[in-house]
Amino acid sequence: MREINHFIGGASVAGHSGRFGDVFNPNTGEVQARVQLAGLRGVEMAVEAAAKAQPEWAATNPQRRARVMFEFKRLVEANMSELAELLSSEHGKVIADSKGDIQRGLEVIEFSCGIPHALKGEYTEGAGPGIDVYSMRQPLGVVAGITPFNFPAMIPMWMFGVAIAVGNTFILKPSERDPSVPVRLAELMMEAGAPAGVLNVLHGDKVVVDAILEHPDIKAVSFVGSSDIAHYVYVKGAEAGKRVQAMGGAKNHGIILPDADMDQVVKDLSGAAFGSAGERCMALPVAVAVGKKTADDLRERMVAEIETLKVGVSTDTSAQYGPVVSAAHRQRISDYIEMGKAEGAELVVDGRGFALQGFEKGFFIGPSLFDHVKPEMKTYQEEIFGPVLQLVRADSFEEALALPSKHQYGNGVAIYTQNGRAARDFAARVNVGMVGINVPIPVPVAYHTFGGWKRSAFGDTNQHGMEGVKFWTKVKTVTARWPDSSLESHSDSSFVIPTMQ
Ligand code: NAD
Repeated sequence: MREINHFIGGASVAGHSGRFGDVFNPNTGEVQARVQLAGLRGVEMAVEAAAKAQPEWAATNPQRRARVMFEFKRLVEANMSELAELLSSEHGKVIADSKGDIQRGLEVIEFSCGIPHALKGEYTEGAGPGIDVYSMRQPLGVVAGITPFNFPAMIPMWMFGVAIAVGNTFILKPSERDPSVPVRLAELMMEAGAPAGVLNVLHGDKVVVDAILEHPDIKAVSFVGSSDIAHYVYVKGAEAGKRVQAMGGAKNHGIILPDADMDQVVKDLSGAAFGSAGERCMALPVAVAVGKKTADDLRERMVAEIETLKVGVSTDTSAQYGPVVSAAHRQRISDYIEMGKAEGAELVVDGRGFALQGFEKGFFIGPSLFDHVKPEMKTYQEEIFGPVLQLVRADSFEEALALPSKHQYGNGVAIYTQNGRAARDFAARVNVGMVGINVPIPVPVAYHTFGGWKRSAFGDTNQHGMEGVKFWTKVKTVTARWPDSSLESHSDSSFVIPTMQ
């Protein structure tokens, strides 16, 4: 059986813990490899390698660090097909979607190619008599990222793309369910010219996560995953004195006003609800139709649209989506569908019976559609993370606005309308972090920032863009005076706080 090793100090390293995790091929349901699950010794090795590399990397001028990012981008692009196939074989998403996953990560690398500009500090000449004040952004040291299974390329690059470019060295703890692409990315980073130890990949589970959170030499942790674990990481990391940002789950709503372009809505909702089998934190699993006519029309068209969807193996270029990540996850989705029925929602399309000929052991599940979903239902309140679209009927704009605003999650939301004033009002008042106006998956571009509100994100800084630069650096502010003692007499001691009076 193929073994997936850690990548520490620029080399492939077998583990010492004797613990392994199974890595499945979700298309066939077979175990295709086993991944090392590190123990405390693995964490020590990774921290040592990162700490050894950090001073020299931080002292490398930002333009040279940016050149490594340029070369890394070129190498990832040159290896795009191989990486996408590897990603799909462990995650299950279709190849075109895997390429999108890698491409969205590369866009953060493109942002990082401009890091010399982003790191320029601020300067005030003459803040006082003969006094200049300037600030600089310095790296934190050794930092870590803990990432989920659903974007094994993009989310690691959100983090290390910026963290490394500003002069930190990085320990990535990717999801143990699809760990191969992160290792390939680290290998390519070395090939691009990053010294050994700048980017390390350590596989593992809770044991490693806890050790990272407790390690005194790791200065910051970025986490993306489910909300309960995000909250745990946030609290435990902060308790240990670290800087922490922890992104969690989501339940994004698409609000459809009566004047929306319904043909576009149906196409957008279908892609956003069922693409990647719904395993996206920016999926759109809740459609809120305003008015009975809108809801009836949407339901009828959605049923017809679902009939056209093709679920297939991830290498099938005509398939819209592939299997989900594991048998356990498929079971969890099926359980939610059963729960939805029991709670009184109407199951209009049931995807549970779906099986793909020749791949009966694969983790496939067809698309499902619920109507008459109510806010008090558990299946509405919780994240299902599968190909399940829930239709909620609202009587008014205000009722529709209140739904995502009051929901425990606040990652993304979309509104469909041709009324600019209504869209503007919605965007201003909705209690959610990322808003799409006639855009179903409003993942901001790399030079803006990504982050939800409420239980979708703990901490106060977003991913990538200038927020990322802020998270991965600390500001030092220097107040400087260069008196000429041959011309000026020494100033007297002052026992009061200096002011600019
Ligand atoms: P997960 O929370 O199970 O795992 C995320 C990471 O935490 C993994 O590296 C995993 O090894 C680790 N982990 C798992 N259990 C742990 C524990 N008990 N203690 C410490 N660490 C633990 O999430 P997942 O299933 O890999 O990913 C799906 C979730 O991620 C969904 O909830 C999705 O909404 C969320 N997500 C959020 C965003 C965002 O930006 N808000 C983006 C992508 C995914």
